[in-house]
Amino acid sequence: MSTAPRPRGGWHWSAWGAEFGGTAALMFAVATAKVAAIAAGPPYSGLRFRIAIIGAVAGLAVVGVALSPWGRRSGAHLNPAVTFGLWRLGVVSHADLAGYSIAQLAGGVAGIAAGRVWGGRIAGGAVDWAIIAPGPSTGTGAATAWEAAATALQLAVVFALLGSERYRSWTAPAAGALLAVAIVALATVSGAGFNPVRGLAPDIVAGSYPGWWVFVVGPMLGAVLAAGAVRVLRIASPLTGKLWHDPRFRCWLRCAIPHTTPKSKSSDEAPPPVGTEAEVPAR
Ligand SMILES: [Zn+2]
Repeated sequence: MSTAPRPRGGWHWSAWGAEFGGTAALMFAVATAKVAAIAAGPPYSGLRFRIAIIGAVAGLAVVGVALSPWGRRSGAHLNPAVTFGLWRLGVVSHADLAGYSIAQLAGGVAGIAAGRVWGGRIAGGAVDWAIIAPGPSTGTGAATAWEAAATALQLAVVFALLGSERYRSWTAPAAGALLAVAIVALATVSGAGFNPVRGLAPDIVAGSYPGWWVFVVGPMLGAVLAAGAVRVLRIASPLTGKLWHDPRFRCWLRCAIPHTTPKSKSSDEAPPPVGTEAEVPAR
């Protein structure tokens, strides 16, 4: 490859659909975990057990979506902060930054709304659509700072792994494990969003907004910090924008990994070399 690879602009409906579905699955899993923990009663419905269950389910959901066909298509960002950080690093095009973010928010709302299959319990006081908010003893400024710091740490590790040919395949499990640990550590402090969609989607469905901006400003600031750390520390830039890269799936995000299928079918690329049979003169 003679030139540095670049992300490809344009309308990538299949990738955006995959982000919609993946984020819907993540948010539905989180809401379902909260319903199940509270329905199970003590000790599972207690605060610490419940947070551990939700953290484990969220982490496993991220890994599951990343390995699914949806994740292999879009990269399983499931979070506008992830997409924004990769856009800062030149991995994501402007069009995909917009398309992914809109798809993630719409998917998150759909996933929370799908919690209606659990009946009235999803809206009950104990579950309350899985809305998150900073802990009662945490000011909004401190909560935003925690969200920024924890998101920055998670994304810096994810971006660094994506830049390593050797450790790239650990990205999805690492992202899931880091998310689970961060939720357990910070749920009662900042609310443990680390994702604008995690903050906003339940609020939109419930029509109640107890501190949504903490989960927008904090994680987006964290994404800026993580991308900045990759640059300042001269960490190798991500080879792919996908948590789990499958060379059989086409990439529109910047990709430096060999593919078994063409990276794109764009007509501005040179056609593949033709076989000798093309040079056989017609009789
Ligand atoms: Zn690729």
